[in-house]
Amino acid sequence: MAFDYVKKVRICEVGLRDGLQNEKTILTVEDKVDLLKGMIKAGFKVIEVGSFMHPVKVPQMANTDEVFKAMQDFDVPEDVELRALIPNKRGVDRAVACGCKKVKLNVSASLGHNLANLNRTPAESVAGFAEAVNAAKENGLDISGSISMAYGSPWDDDIPVDEVKKIIEAYMAVGITEISLSDASGMAYPSQVYNICTEVKKAYPGNTWWLHFHNTRGLAISNIIAGMQAGMTQFDASLAGVGGCPFVPGAAGNVSTEDVLHCLDEMGVETGIDIDQTIALSRKIVELIGHKADSYVLKAGQSKDLKLPLPVRQEKK
Ligand code: ZN
Repeated sequence: MAFDYVKKVRICEVGLRDGLQNEKTILTVEDKVDLLKGMIKAGFKVIEVGSFMHPVKVPQMANTDEVFKAMQDFDVPEDVELRALIPNKRGVDRAVACGCKKVKLNVSASLGHNLANLNRTPAESVAGFAEAVNAAKENGLDISGSISMAYGSPWDDDIPVDEVKKIIEAYMAVGITEISLSDASGMAYPSQVYNICTEVKKAYPGNTWWLHFHNTRGLAISNIIAGMQAGMTQFDASLAGVGGCPFVPGAAGNVSTEDVLHCLDEMGVETGIDIDQTIALSRKIVELIGHKADSYVLKAGQSKDLKLPLPVRQEKK
């Protein structure tokens, strides 16, 4: 049996949002804009710039509006999508005001998590997004949805795929067909990812999918490969693996972008992203946050750079 997988994928760089929202250090607008320009130059076509959450709750993201405004003076190529995470309709209003054209809603797949925080089931939460979706569409914004903890949560042992499908259908009912299946809790494993992805692709063939893996238990790249074997082509990653998850004990950040690129480059999978420029950006973000993050490639370098001289065989005397 041949090892079969897709040969071309898209990576969304989420470090500026998912990564930095868990950091103590708050980056300035200038630092974020610099990183953003570097990402565009390196070839990233989809970048999650920040979020429009309440500035008191997520102070790291409070300057997201300013970052989008600053990017208006920069010639962002037409094929580059800069997106932001929003909690509700107010997020749409902020996006419109600062020139952000793509937004993403999020719901936790965990029934326990939702009941504890919102006293609603995940599907009920998604139904409540209708107002935000309508406002986005009226203003010409693209809108997508994410399902976090789609592969398991600390509150529920397993999330049955039928529960995930109910949430997907709730998103579709409010008009969202671009959906991210996210593993914020770092509980996903490859055979499960393959099965869920195969199932949802078959059940909803018209949808667009993203996969989002945290590397909490070292399985993120294996999960990406499993997703690729199921025909998935779009994955999130975070420079240097920066990030975490405030709800989950010990949660690591998203899988490091350079680790994913290194793997895909070795496998001959096309990403359109320059790994050397990405590594330089990852070093920069590590310098800005002031501590090491979870990146194998930053530690060990790329395989292609290992060039030890061939030893000369010693002739016997
Ligand atoms: Zn995440």
